[in-house]
Amino acid sequence: MISVDEARTKILKDILPVGTEVVALSAAAGRVMAEDALSRRTQPPADMSAMDGFAVKTGDLKSIPMDLKIIGEVPAGGAYDKEVKAGEAVRIFTGAPLPQGTDTIIIQEDTDFSNETVTVKEGAAKGTYVRPAGLDFRQGDVGLTAPRILSPRDIGLLAAMNIPWVTVRRKPKIALLSTGDELVRPGEPIGPNQIISSNSLLVAALIEAAGGEAIDLGIAMDNAESLREKVKDAKSADMLITLGGASVGDHDLIQPVLGKEGLSVDFWRIAMRPGKPLMFGSFSGIPMLGMPGNPVSSMICSYLFLIPALDALRGIIPRRPTRQKALLGHAMKANDQREDYMRATITGEKDGRPVVELFAKQDSSMLSPLSSADCLIVRAPFADALQKGAEVDMIPLTQPYPAV
Ligand code: AMP
Ligand code: MG
Repeated sequence: MISVDEARTKILKDILPVGTEVVALSAAAGRVMAEDALSRRTQPPADMSAMDGFAVKTGDLKSIPMDLKIIGEVPAGGAYDKEVKAGEAVRIFTGAPLPQGTDTIIIQEDTDFSNETVTVKEGAAKGTYVRPAGLDFRQGDVGLTAPRILSPRDIGLLAAMNIPWVTVRRKPKIALLSTGDELVRPGEPIGPNQIISSNSLLVAALIEAAGGEAIDLGIAMDNAESLREKVKDAKSADMLITLGGASVGDHDLIQPVLGKEGLSVDFWRIAMRPGKPLMFGSFSGIPMLGMPGNPVSSMICSYLFLIPALDALRGIIPRRPTRQKALLGHAMKANDQREDYMRATITGEKDGRPVVELFAKQDSSMLSPLSSADCLIVRAPFADALQKGAEVDMIPLTQPYPAV
């Protein structure tokens, strides 16, 4: 058995980014920008007012209060074209360009005014409430550097830079093949000893949330013919995930059958719990992850290996699930040789840190505690027994990866 870290390194070693495509900016949030974005304009394009008030010359404000003649007005999107002379002011609104000859804004609240005259009651230094041209960015500036997952904030910046189209990595296609005679899809007729294939939907949802495109190849029966038939469709994908059939049982056919169909196994079995029978290799030239069938195992293997692999396919530095420190709400036994990922809830807070408690049952088939878990508690191989209140590592499940 290899360690979780060794497995991660082996999986990520040879993965190359997929190709690019051009998408409309409105469809680019969450996508990986593949080329640097150069601004196509200067923002603001001219010196602009940041407030409603009066554009004046600071030279006119030697004494306060001071009366100035209002010679016109300028709204956002408009312009006041004539030069402003000594003793004059222009009524101005937020986002309007400063008239020539003015250099500061007196906010409306600091004035009394009629149609013809404004009385300035508070002085202001040169440039007050003025946004100089290029304050935010200039034409030709590198606004964003690739590769980068585009956040909603980035979309706003690119829009302001007048970039309506973006070159992004196409969404990696991840083929998902479930295996097992006992499985049926949700909503389908079900026999007395069958179960619903929940796994493929769980993993597909994770893939989509992490920026990939899940392709469901359906359920292969536990026989060579069915497996061979179903796996054919994986060849157009960027990566293949099989669910179940990765162990050593008589009905675990992934290795023996796919071995004859173009699968070469790099490693099989990891010193972790759940997820020990994880397999990695390449299938007809694409990376292949063979995950154990139990839903919790697949989910944790997805967090640790599939999402980083997806990152590599998207051309970004593969992330690791964020870890935080937490305090145990109860004592815990020593660990064996496998790195443990246990489902837990946050039950309180002590000294600014979350207090966590394990679910009593840690069976890797159980979806109810998985769904209501707030976090995973991670224990290193051979970790010592712990007292109540001891510090542990946890992976929050609400947001396992850094926010974009
Ligand atoms: P296997 O890895 O095929 O031995 O499966 C391990 C356990 O996971 C068995 O109890 C299977 O019934 C269950 N299992 C396998 N595939 C799925 C699936 N797609 N959804 C839910 N449970 C599954
Ligand atoms: Mg099976």
